[in-house]
Amino acid sequence: MKILAFEVREDEKLYFEKYAAQYNCEITCIEDPLTFNNLKIVEGYDGISILGKSHITCDLEDSLKSLNVNFCSTRTVGFDHIDITHAHEIGFKIANTNYPPTGVAEHTVMLMLMSLRHYKQAMWRGHVNDYSLGGLQGRELNTLTVGIVGTGKIGQCVIKYLSNFGCKILAYDMHENTDVTKYAKYTDLDTIITSSDIISLHTPLLEGTYHLINDEKINRMKDNVVLINCARGELMDIDALIRGVEAKKIGALGLDVIEGEKDLYHQDKRTDIISNQKIAYLRQFPNVILTQHMAFYTDIAVESMVKCSIEAIHDFIKTGNSKTSI
Ligand code: NAD
Repeated sequence: MKILAFEVREDEKLYFEKYAAQYNCEITCIEDPLTFNNLKIVEGYDGISILGKSHITCDLEDSLKSLNVNFCSTRTVGFDHIDITHAHEIGFKIANTNYPPTGVAEHTVMLMLMSLRHYKQAMWRGHVNDYSLGGLQGRELNTLTVGIVGTGKIGQCVIKYLSNFGCKILAYDMHENTDVTKYAKYTDLDTIITSSDIISLHTPLLEGTYHLINDEKINRMKDNVVLINCARGELMDIDALIRGVEAKKIGALGLDVIEGEKDLYHQDKRTDIISNQKIAYLRQFPNVILTQHMAFYTDIAVESMVKCSIEAIHDFIKTGNSKTSI
């Protein structure tokens, strides 16, 4: 069984070796994403493993099939970079990954706490021996209402962690989960928008969730609202976020993901001229914390991402199905 793995980072190689041996596969790792330009190298492989920079469009799926590559596993939870509908139509099998939601949930809570305690400003000051307190007075989670949009694996875990902080927790999802009701009150999206001091998104990026947070919703939020996004950047309209911060309607932003991040994140751009004006502009605000799409990035998650990816292709070939099939 031969697998070609794209977008492989140094820290993943050890796990690729470990699970190649365990699943008795031959695996080739390359750093580049899969595009039409390098498509030919997939010839002779049974399946491919990718990350989010390989855009698996319907044309690419057709081409992969014509090269007799029938299986693709993405080492990500989100799969908005893959045309799933077309894949189903042509019988091109796709799987995503599975890892504990705890790492992303911890990162989410960290961004909430850093935002409430103005930690970015405090850190800046410390670097220049400025130990003053002015402007750093924070708010305590136990006095606030937190609205969680999306109560799947990660949203649920965030709610469970938050329940120890004594805050009021509101939740919204089309599919209510009884475990969540132990810690949070389900309500409609509108109530979350108008009643929360902190709003945190945990939904996938879908047609219906694109720009879920826009000008109209921000205008109806509480003054000084804190917005947290550890899901997908495009859930929030970046222009509306900028307007909300400029108008001082938004008290703080804690964003692990941001619209337009794809050409920037996970790359060392220190000596480049950055042309993404919106991200550069947002980053300079004292109340905006951006992390580089790293909420997932823990030892446990990375190992699981690689393992699931190899396991999925192995299972597709051996049994025709995979437990992470989408
Ligand atoms: P999940 O599938 O377990 O949960 C998603 C939940 O969102 C489901 O309960 C679903 O019903 C709900 N949902 C869908 N559309 C909705 C809508 N319009 N309104 C309200 N709820 C809606 O997924 P998960 O594992 O909890 O992950 C959530 C998202 O987090 C993923 O889709 C992925 O894009 C993102 N993610 C980001 C990172 C990161 O490193 N920042 C890591 C992992 C996942």
